[in-house]
Amino acid sequence: MLGLGLIGGSLLRAAVAGGRVAWGYNRSSDTVEAARADGFDADSDLIATLKRAEADKALIVIAVPVPAVDAVLSAIAEHAPGCPLTDVVSVKAEIAAAVSRHGLAPQYVGGHPMAGTSESGWTAGDADLFRGAVWVVATDDGADPTVWSQVAQLALDCGSEVVPAESAEHDRAAARISHLPHILAETLAITGDAGGPLALGLAAGSFRDGTRVAGSAPALVRAMCEGNRDGLLIAMDEALDLLTRARRDLAENGSTATLVEAGYAARSAYETQQTSDITGITPGDDGWIDAMREAGRHGGRVRNL
Ligand code: NAP
Repeated sequence: MLGLGLIGGSLLRAAVAGGRVAWGYNRSSDTVEAARADGFDADSDLIATLKRAEADKALIVIAVPVPAVDAVLSAIAEHAPGCPLTDVVSVKAEIAAAVSRHGLAPQYVGGHPMAGTSESGWTAGDADLFRGAVWVVATDDGADPTVWSQVAQLALDCGSEVVPAESAEHDRAAARISHLPHILAETLAITGDAGGPLALGLAAGSFRDGTRVAGSAPALVRAMCEGNRDGLLIAMDEALDLLTRARRDLAENGSTATLVEAGYAARSAYETQQTSDITGITPGDDGWIDAMREAGRHGGRVRNL
């Protein structure tokens, strides 16, 4: 595990709880000491950690923010080029491109656990963070079926369900359900605060829920949103268009009906969305990548391998 913050630290805990032999690297020694004090195998020496992984052909998980990924990949290419490789970064196409630049594409299958909190760091970690969550496993052209299965098995062992998706398709979807919500939460927080102590003093559930993710570390939010610029711009354009129409409707007709009724229906669709087991597709068989993607697009989830 490279990076022992909220996600890497939770994953180290979950992997060990699931019976795996797992160890981690973290840049700052405070975190390494905290992880060791909690009984985990952690080191601040990246090269030693990678050499150990190379000797065991261990599955490496990159769990640092986007701006730190390139340096980590350089070190992997130098010290652990034979290891299967995945990551938990919230954007996938940009990471896949960086992996290719470092010559590591053949052994890489990206991942994105759709779980988290607005807290950061080792102390915020939780072995059960991924239980019941969805974990996207990138299903890109040329994906190695053995590595794909290793990554999917890690997700399953952490209690997640696997959604197979192509990286660019994941990014467009994540822009809508994760990155745009961050942008809107920041916007809501700012407009609420602009109302001064009276407005903030009246704030209750809707303000608290709508702004929750604005409490996330700004550097992480920026890395996610800026790393998925194309997908996020499309989603922001759609949201701005909806707001512009809603504003016009309210100003000219005194009504918010169009927005509110469509929003209510969309929220109901989310709550009643059906999922299904993906069965009968074996990684490595002819056409498995297309079949997995198609199943993922329609609510399919791998619950067993
Ligand atoms: P976090 O709690 O802030 O931890 C970040 C980790 O990355 C720390 O171990 C930090 O080390 C390390 N790091 C930061 N900059 C680094 C650098 N330049 N070189 C080496 N290590 C560096 O963040 P997180 O929430 O775990 O996020 C980690 C990844 O998970 C991100 O890519 C994020 O997109 C992804 N993710 C996050 C969520 C979420 O809800 N938070 C959900 C899914 C995926 P130090 O201790 O030395 O600072």
